[in-house]
Amino acid sequence: MTENPRARETRPASAPPKGKLRATGTPQVRPTTEGWTQKKDAEGRPLLQFASPKRGKPPLHLADLTPTERIEKVKELGLPGFRAKQLATHYFRHYTSDAAQMTDLPADIREQLVGGLLPPLLTEVRRLETDRGDTIKFLWRLHDGALVESVLMRYPGRITLCVSSQAGCGMNCPFCATGQAGLTRNMSTAEIVEQIVRANRLIAEGGLGGKKADDHSMERVSNIVFMGMGEPLANYNRVMDAVRSMVAPQPDGLGMSARGITVSTVGLVPAIKKLADEGIPVTFALSLHAPDDHLRDELIPVNSKWKVDEALDAARYYYEKTGRRVSIEYALIKDMNDHAWRADLLAEKLNERGRGWVHVNPIPLNPTPGSIWTSSTREAQNEFVRRLNDAGIPTTLRDTRGKEIDGACGQLVATTEDEAASAAMA
Ligand code: SAH
Repeated sequence: MTENPRARETRPASAPPKGKLRATGTPQVRPTTEGWTQKKDAEGRPLLQFASPKRGKPPLHLADLTPTERIEKVKELGLPGFRAKQLATHYFRHYTSDAAQMTDLPADIREQLVGGLLPPLLTEVRRLETDRGDTIKFLWRLHDGALVESVLMRYPGRITLCVSSQAGCGMNCPFCATGQAGLTRNMSTAEIVEQIVRANRLIAEGGLGGKKADDHSMERVSNIVFMGMGEPLANYNRVMDAVRSMVAPQPDGLGMSARGITVSTVGLVPAIKKLADEGIPVTFALSLHAPDDHLRDELIPVNSKWKVDEALDAARYYYEKTGRRVSIEYALIKDMNDHAWRADLLAEKLNERGRGWVHVNPIPLNPTPGSIWTSSTREAQNEFVRRLNDAGIPTTLRDTRGKEIDGACGQLVATTEDEAASAAMA
């Protein structure tokens, strides 16, 4: 395999900050972006988009409302309030928005209820499956044509859905395909929830492979990871309302366990603190990817606002408030962030903040279109993991699913092919 010569544009490894940590002599690749142009602000820094561009609002949906608001809305339609619960049962328990299936409701009001409270939100454009059928990537079109993806994965004993929280992403991380396209808009609460309901429907119909037993009627998504498109904490209120619907008991919500829901962030520090104070014990993941500001400034542009230490302090605060062990995500990129001294520095920074509060999930980089970076070598991965474990930090290499269908972490982006498929359907 020939390597792009520019990818080898190596400079000496930036000196590790502490005397006892020594550079190992491995090269230091800098995160230059090629194959695409990183958007810059007026001062020439990578553009960060926090505000959602204004677009037509998605139609209001049952899942956007609290149980009380649902009753009011049903009354507004001129119907008795108790119909709200019946409708919620269809949606959150039977995963249906199809009036024809709601046989417990008088035929003449079904259309009215469905039309008023269960408008279509996600149109399936495309579905890709792995050979074994145990991983499925959905491409959805939203009401305004924006495209988002979710990825459904069966593991032994659990079914995980990776959901999107924004169409596109404004965080501009150069190694993530989603960030390269910029932020289209925030997703609504119901658009987030609907991804789960649609996945549950497919599972109940037996559409998710990888299991021998024939009866799928009791199966459903057990775990959610906010690791699809978007920065969940940049769409805070809608994401939290979606989480509330996920954990509310059926039929008010999906009756899921908060612990099975992972919120992953690039490190929006004030929002992490707010999340810690919510009193909903979701699992928290920080996408760190570098323990030193020098490199993280370039890998995670939001590091220009909140530095490594601030992000780690916020993660520690999350642990203190919730008692939930925090995950540190770390994509291992060859000669970029996988140096042994960085493993040591990471361990040191985590241990400084106490023991037993955190674990590290390194994940070999997944290829993204136009990217010149590659995943770390097996040896570098093992060494990285070993050093952290030796320092007392539980560390497990995460194996990502769905690479063959471009459904793995950092690979979710609407391609021109997707746009064409969507246009052909419209
Ligand atoms: N914006 C949030 C959630 C979406 S990304 C966040 O960044 O945490 C989910 C995870 O995939 C993050 O840890 C992200 O850093 C990681 N990721 C992004 N691009 C990747 C790539 N090319 N290979 C491996 N992991 C990647």
